[in-house]
Order: sequence, then C-alpha cells, then structure tokens
Amino acid sequence: MCEATAASGQSCSAPARPGRRWCVWHDADAVAERREMSRKGGAARSNKSRVRKQYVDGILSPAELEGLIGTTLKGVLMGKIAPGQAQAVASLARAAMSVREASEIEERLRSLEERAGISDGRTA
Ligand SMILES: [Zn+2]
Repeated sequence: MCEATAASGQSCSAPARPGRRWCVWHDADAVAERREMSRKGGAARSNKSRVRKQYVDGILSPAELEGLIGTTLKGVLMGKIAPGQAQAVASLARAAMSVREASEIEERLRSLEERAGISDGRTA
C-alpha cells in the first residue's frame, strides 16, 4: 500500500509501485507514468464525446449522400471497393434517404396543417 497521506488525513489506498513506498500518484519519481495515465484518461473521455458528436456529424445532406454514392461507384469501377462494401453503402444510403423523406413529409404536413388551422391531436 502507498504510504502517503491524503489532504483529508486518510492514508492513500492505492497500491504502491513495485519496489517503492508510494503509489503512482504520490511517488515523486513517477512523473512520466502520471502523465501517461492522465493522457489516457483524457483520451477515453474525449473518445466518448467524439462518438456522441459523430451522430450529429453523421447527418448527410442530399448532396453529401449523392457524393458518397458517386465515390463508392467510382471505387467499385476502379476495383478499390469490394462490391459487398458498395452494397452495404448503397443500402445505408437508401435508409438515410427514406429517413430524410419521412421527416421532410412530416415537416411539410405539419406546416400545411398549421396554415389550415388543423390540429392532428398531438399538438392541441
Ligand atoms: Zn498514494
């Protein structure tokens, strides 16, 4: 066990480094390890927010979808993309387009209803 005492007066409960009397946080010689651990911790945290951000970043405009399909098509023709991969891209692009269509129709319907003064029951 680490021999250091925390500011609260309690002794540190972290395991001491091999052959040392203190843990990695209290051993004055463990500067490099501490830096590495902080770096890893920071990376893990920013990975999470990066994944969350990707959902928003992943929204493709019609032009982007078209570009993606075109790039994939060229890739297949040049032998850089396997037909199976292209198939996956194609069906994902179809899925993205139908989600977009559905939300566009929903949006247009809502504005039509608003103008007509019709309530669909969800918005009283
Ligand atoms: Zn300690």
